[in-house]
Amino acid sequence: MTRRVALLGKPLTRRHSVVMHNAAFDAVGIDARYELLELEPEAVEAAVTAARGPEFLGLGVTAPYKKVVAGFVDEVEPDAARIGAVNNVVRTDDGRLVGINTDAPGFRAGVELAMGRPLVGARVAVAGAGGAAHAVVYACLAAGAGQVTIGNRRAPAAEELATRMAGVGDGTVSGTGLDGAAFADALVAADLAVNATTVGMLDPGMTLPVDVLRAEATVFDLVYVPAETPLLAAARARGLRASNGSEMLIAQAAAAFERWTGVGGMADVMRAAVRPLLDDATVRA
Ligand code: NAP
Repeated sequence: MTRRVALLGKPLTRRHSVVMHNAAFDAVGIDARYELLELEPEAVEAAVTAARGPEFLGLGVTAPYKKVVAGFVDEVEPDAARIGAVNNVVRTDDGRLVGINTDAPGFRAGVELAMGRPLVGARVAVAGAGGAAHAVVYACLAAGAGQVTIGNRRAPAAEELATRMAGVGDGTVSGTGLDGAAFADALVAADLAVNATTVGMLDPGMTLPVDVLRAEATVFDLVYVPAETPLLAAARARGLRASNGSEMLIAQAAAAFERWTGVGGMADVMRAAVRPLLDDATVRA
């Protein structure tokens, strides 16, 4: 029996996940396929229920279904519950479905590589308060960041996210407006500045004024299409450490693959497989 993993989302225009997971299945000789399942909202519950079948290893979940899927599985792991988003589902041998979040460990792996140091004690400024920012803020605090300041266009969403994450780890967390004085102060002091908005991908411009950052600061943009956003170009022009979201993408996929198959260490295979797509300037958001 060929096993299956289906990615639930709408729209599903990118093939990065398909390419990474199928390369990994092939590399380790597992008879399984990763496929895209673009669904209307009313079809999501039935698609999750179908994944209890023995042919499924699990599911991938992407926008706009990362929240709603949590209500259709048997169990949501504590970190995914705290983040408020399930980006993968694991089918256990007895057909139970477990919602997990691999964006948070994926972000941690990608950003610690970019920084060249662990997040422990870091002062972090995060632009954005959407789904991805939830995983980023959780990952930073859980990894021991000393201070996390969230700046969002709609300030109340940043405040809500900070309240949600209070008490994760020992660091402090606060939320404010993207253009306010408190976020500007956080940027000046930051070891790490993160763009977790869609700006640079869907909207032109950038969320973080790189000229105010310390020379030792790292800029991490979750966007990976395009590979170089205006933010990353500006950060590199200033000589700062700067990375896009491609290593996070690869690390979150490798973490999910390990949960479905028990096989770890597939990041190199996945990176090699997805590289042409990441480098292809014609791939659009
Ligand atoms: P989302 O839930 O829709 O949140 C969007 C965020 O962007 C919100 O904070 C929103 O602010 C902000 N925003 C949108 N347009 C803006 C503008 N013109 N100016 C300022 N802020 C603006 O999206 P998401 O799922 O969090 O995804 C965010 C980004 O992360 C996307 O580019 C996605 O591709 C990327 N991502 C990457 C990975 C990876 O593995 N590398 C994983 C997940 C996500 P408001 O609340 O004010 O609207």
